[in-house]
Amino acid sequence: MKRIFITSVVVWLAMVAWAAGRDSYTVIVSLDGFRWDYTEAYDTPFFDQLAQQGVKAVMTPSFPSKTFPNHYTLATGLVPDHHGIIANKFKIRSSGKKFSLSNTETRTDPQYYGGDPVWLTAKHQGVKSATVYWVGSDVAIKGEYANYWKDYLQDLLTKEQRVDEIIRLLSLPEEERPHLVMAYFEEPDASGHKYGPISRETRQAVEYMDSLMQVLWTRLQALPIGENINFIVTGDHGMTWVNPERQLYPKDYLKEEWVEHIYNDFPALIYATRPQFVDSIYNALQHVDHLRVWKRGEMPAYLNYGHNENMGDVIVLPDVGWVFDKDPWKPGGTHGFDHTCSDMWVGFRAIGPDFKQGYTRANTFRNVCIYPLLCHLLGVTPSPNDGTLDEVTDLLR
Ligand code: AMP
Ligand code: ZN
Ligand code: ZN
Repeated sequence: MKRIFITSVVVWLAMVAWAAGRDSYTVIVSLDGFRWDYTEAYDTPFFDQLAQQGVKAVMTPSFPSKTFPNHYTLATGLVPDHHGIIANKFKIRSSGKKFSLSNTETRTDPQYYGGDPVWLTAKHQGVKSATVYWVGSDVAIKGEYANYWKDYLQDLLTKEQRVDEIIRLLSLPEEERPHLVMAYFEEPDASGHKYGPISRETRQAVEYMDSLMQVLWTRLQALPIGENINFIVTGDHGMTWVNPERQLYPKDYLKEEWVEHIYNDFPALIYATRPQFVDSIYNALQHVDHLRVWKRGEMPAYLNYGHNENMGDVIVLPDVGWVFDKDPWKPGGTHGFDHTCSDMWVGFRAIGPDFKQGYTRANTFRNVCIYPLLCHLLGVTPSPNDGTLDEVTDLLR
């Protein structure tokens, strides 16, 4: 009798959790390069309002703090070494091809995208999902897309049109309406690169995104389902200053015959022409000031990096603010550095029925926890991942 009672309670609790997930909606917006302290440096009344009425936190990216690796980490809960998008540019060892953002053939080839992106986790468990340009969402991963998705290569919507699109998706009839919407915006990353993180132009970009997010939230709340929407605004990495006086050139240290490719993308991934040259490259760089150098498989554990099959033979990471590249750099901003450096950290705001009100988290959390958090909000079972829900339950009511 006691066992039957306990079983019924467990079944009832599971149904409540299931129903809660199905009733609520989650909108997550990524602002590329949304450095955590832009909201301190700039005038962002809406992000401040979200902090007062919802949750405010600082999130650490995964290494390397670049766009493709981190957006796909947010989607899968796997660190880049595990999901396979190890950099914005890398060599595919099996074919010798180059993966890069501008190489459409490799960028849209699903075989490089490991793990289970949340739009598929949800869809496979009967929860409709939608994406508006999230990294990986215009790739037929496992032969599939989200229920609704947009191609980054075609008729790119403006920022304002993306807001319209989110509202359109959540205004669909109930049977068609997605419960998860993931949207991507290129700012403030674009301004941060061109003008540096602390500049008039980046201020304008951040303040504009603040006002656009206010418009989005106001319109979301005005929907009939407004009270059931959890709204998250975050990003992929931060931004720091670089300038040409802090640049090192590979040709000053390496012989041409040693190097097949250098994919210069913080970190630089160096592929040797022959195995015996791996040591030559490593030895030539290991005592250079402002560079850290490792052979693949020998990186410190905290970076969670360096074991993937497509990894360079030698990995070179400049100190924060330094550049290692063959082409001269202009002054401006960039990212990709050690993810434990605070300039690489990301702002996080969340509001809605599942989030605490007026809660500021004291310490950072890892971005691999976004995937289990989204699965929890949607009431779906997460696939194996590198994050934990426990790390972020304090954000929830
Ligand atoms: P990063 O070099 O890490 O700053 O990369 C930012 C760039 O990624 C931006 O210029 C975007 O245009 C680009 N990007 C973002 N999403 C996609 C996508 N789905 N496909 C191709 N490029 C993208
Ligand atoms: Zn980015
Ligand atoms: Zn960038």
